[in-house]
This record gives sequence, C-alpha cells and structure tokens, in this order.
Amino acid sequence: MEVSGWGRFPKTTAEIIEPVDSASLKKIVLAQNKSDSLICRGAGRSYGDSSLASRMLSSRFLDSFLALDEKAQTIRCGAGVSLDAILKLCIPRGLFLKVVPGTRFVTVGGAIAADVHGKNHHQDGSFCDYVQNFSLMLASGEIVICSEQENSELFHATCAGMGLTGVIVDATIALEKLSSASIRQHSLVANNLKECFELLEANNGSKYSVAWLDCLSRGDELGRSLLFLGEHDEENESRAKLKYRSRGGPGIPFSTPAFLLNRFTMAIFNNSYFNLKKRSKQESIVDYDSYFFPLDNIGNWNRLYGSKGFLQYQFVIPTDAAFEGISKVLSKVSAAGKGSFLSVLKKFGKQNKNLLSFPREGYTLTLDFKREEKIFPLLNELDEIVLDHGGRLYLAKDARMSEAMFKAGYPEWERFLQVKNRVDPSSMFSSLQSNRLGLS
Ligand SMILES: Cc1cc2nc3c(=O)[nH]c(=O)nc-3n(C[C@H](O)[C@H](O)[C@H](O)COP(=O)(O)OP(=O)(O)OC[C@H]3O[C@@H](n4cnc5c(N)ncnc54)[C@H](O)[C@@H]3O)c2cc1C
Repeated sequence: MEVSGWGRFPKTTAEIIEPVDSASLKKIVLAQNKSDSLICRGAGRSYGDSSLASRMLSSRFLDSFLALDEKAQTIRCGAGVSLDAILKLCIPRGLFLKVVPGTRFVTVGGAIAADVHGKNHHQDGSFCDYVQNFSLMLASGEIVICSEQENSELFHATCAGMGLTGVIVDATIALEKLSSASIRQHSLVANNLKECFELLEANNGSKYSVAWLDCLSRGDELGRSLLFLGEHDEENESRAKLKYRSRGGPGIPFSTPAFLLNRFTMAIFNNSYFNLKKRSKQESIVDYDSYFFPLDNIGNWNRLYGSKGFLQYQFVIPTDAAFEGISKVLSKVSAAGKGSFLSVLKKFGKQNKNLLSFPREGYTLTLDFKREEKIFPLLNELDEIVLDHGGRLYLAKDARMSEAMFKAGYPEWERFLQVKNRVDPSSMFSSLQSNRLGLS
C-alpha cells in the first residue's frame, strides 16, 4: 500500500507487517530477507521518511500497560502505547510525563527513537532522559535490556537511533507529580527577533516556553513573535482539576487546493493571529492540552498544505551563533515569500549522551513549507546557513537532507554506525532516510 509520514512527502509503496505478539515479531525478524529493508513504524507522526521502507513493521500490537508504580512514579508499557494513552491513565492519578512533544499522538517507541523534546528542554532535557530502561529486539531475534547501566552503548545508540538498532518492545519511563492539569500561561509580545531572544533568555527560569514567530515579517519587524511561558498551576491544585482532556475540534476533510496557500494568504493569517493574540490577556489559565498540543485539536491538519504535502524544516544553532544564523534564515525565507503559518522558536538546554539526539544547547526554529519544486533549492540554501553557524537538522522532521549535511551536523555518526554494525551487521533495519544519509 502507499504510505508516507505526517508531511505526506515522500510517499512509497510498502508492505505493512502487523505481528500480534512478540513471538510472531521474532518469527518475522528471523525470516526477513537480510537484503530487504525493514523498519519499525509507530504512529507515523514523524514528518519525512524515517519510518518508511519496503517492509514496515507496525508496533500497534505492543499496546499494553505492564506496570504503573505510583509511589516510585514510573510506568512500564509496550512501545506501541501512545503518549495520549499514558496521559489518560496518569493525569487522574496526579502524574504526568516529564517531556511531551507538540502532539500526544506519538508512540513510546517513536518518542524514544527520536528522543523527542518539548517546551521544557532548557529546564528538563528530552524524553530519553527519563527512560529508565527498554527491551530491544535485535536483528538476531534476541531481546536485550538496555539502560544507562546495562548495554549502555546500545542504549545511547537506540535513544534517537530512528529505529535502526532494532525494535523497542517495551520501556520503563519516569513520571513527575502533577498537582493540576491546568497551565498558568503568561504571554509576551516581541516586536522583533532580538526582543524575542532577550525575552527567552530573561525567562529561562520558566518551566515551559515557546515562541510563535511570524516568519513573513520583514525589516524592523523581522522575527516578531508571541512568547508563551507556562507553569503547572500549583496555586489552584485540587484532585478535581486532575482531569484528562481530549478535545477534538473540526478536522480538515480533504486536501486544501495548493493555490490557496501563497504568500498573501499566509501573511494575512500570520498578521491576524499576531494582532489578535497581542490584544488578548497576558495572564491566563489554560488546559494542558491546548498549551502543549494546540494542533491536535484540528484533525488531519496536514491536509492544509495540499495533496503534494509539505516539509517541516527544523534546525538548532548553538547559543553563540543562534541570533545571527536564525536572522539570516528568516531573512531568506521572508524574501522568498515562502514562509509558512506561524513558526516555532524554542530554547534548548544541554545536549545528552545519545549519539544522534537532535537537541544541543542553543535555539531551534521550525518552519513549514508547502512542497513545490522551488522549495528544494531554498532549503539547500538554508542548510548552508545552518551549517555555517554550527547547527544541524532534526531527523524526525527530515525528508531531504544530504548525507554530507547529516554527517557534518552529527559528529557521533561514526560511533553510531559502529554500534549498529555490531548488532545489525547486514543493516536489516533500514529506512528510506537511513539509506539516503549513509546510515545503512
Ligand atoms: C503535530 C506534531 C508536532 C510535533 N511536535 C514535536 C515536538 O514538539 N518535539 C519533537 O521532538 N517532535 C515533535 N514531533 C515529531 C514526533 O514527535 C516524532 O517524529 C516521533 O518520533 C513520532 O513518533 P511515532 O510514534 O509517530 O513514530 P513514527 O513516525 O512511526 O516513527 C518515527 C521513528 O521512530 C522509529 N520507531 C517507531 N517505533 C519504534 C519502535 N517500537 N522501535 C524502534 N523504533 C521505532 C521509526 O522507525 C522511525 O525511525 C511532532 C510531530 C507532529 C506531527
């Protein structure tokens, strides 16, 4: 069948294999023709081609909760369990995940394989920093336990390893205490990029922070943005407030005709959003789902970019060079008139030990582009700016970067390959992405 990631580009024809338990998973792995590509597929929320291959192994059957230890604040579950299901179970018990990405519809396996980050990386690091251990099925069919202490090299290659070391079967994750499911939100207006950086620095002590940027603004207003700071609402804590929420707004029923998305319609949208939010209240109490997962309320929003799909471009630049690099990227995007709906700027804290983990200390910007031929040369130019400023692109969003770009941005790629070659010598676990990047 034809499949794609969330960006709907690229598309490929693949055989989807759905094992029903770990015994059948082992049979499939052992019977796999070693020269064929096999890759695990979680919820398919990565944007590009990291979970695409000629044979895709669905983790859907790994959907059980195995243990919840409320005292120790840990949960053990199958790798196919979604973060949404964890929140549904944990919030009423006063527990929360330490790190959540911008959608709750990802699986635990996908969150580990991309070492996803949230709006609190500057304070709390990324998802895998809270993974105590996981079991991994290797190409040999053997299941090994990996943690910081046990098989630690394999642990650090699998966390952010994009499924290339094997299939994560289940995992134990540390949780945090939650006193209220509401977020005390404080919003600030930055009239340009410099102000936005200053506000992010000045509010480094805030647990959560994210800036929504108008990437089509120019001149003195280049990088104008709205900054949303957040804290769990400790003041109004009560058991009754620990309520799981799953708001579902209207969905996008079909692909939007691509011509509707042009620099004028995007500029109108960005302008209206900026002005509307600028006038709204600075302090407010919002539900956790609208703070963390605003896009989840619009079903199939990826159809907005038309049937040819879109590319999400996310990069990080180290702190010292971040302002200059991001200014150059924004100027180029704005001059080309190819910007997207509101873009997201976040501050990252220290990098962890995972070999291919994306976050490093600095600033990360995320931009969406409708897929059209003219976009590819522009993205190549953006790559040069990112590299010149010591940055790199996020593998979970990537659908097109070159092998050279990848290797320049991820200096630990050789150590990663050494570990991969040890556990998967014939590179059975490979994806369209890993073939393109020289990782298989
Ligand atoms: C609206 C939206 C917002 C997002 N916001 C953020 C964000 O804020 N921060 C962030 O970091 N990311 C974000 N993402 C990206 C997303 O969190 C990652 O791409 C995540 O990896 C998707 O998980 P998935 O279960 O959908 O995995 P898939 O997309 O199916 O797969 C992603 C990778 O994980 C591997 N994988 C999946 N399951 C397993 C397993 N059991 N064993 C081994 N490997 C496995 C796959 O092989 C593939 O390489 C966002 C995505 C969307 C759509």
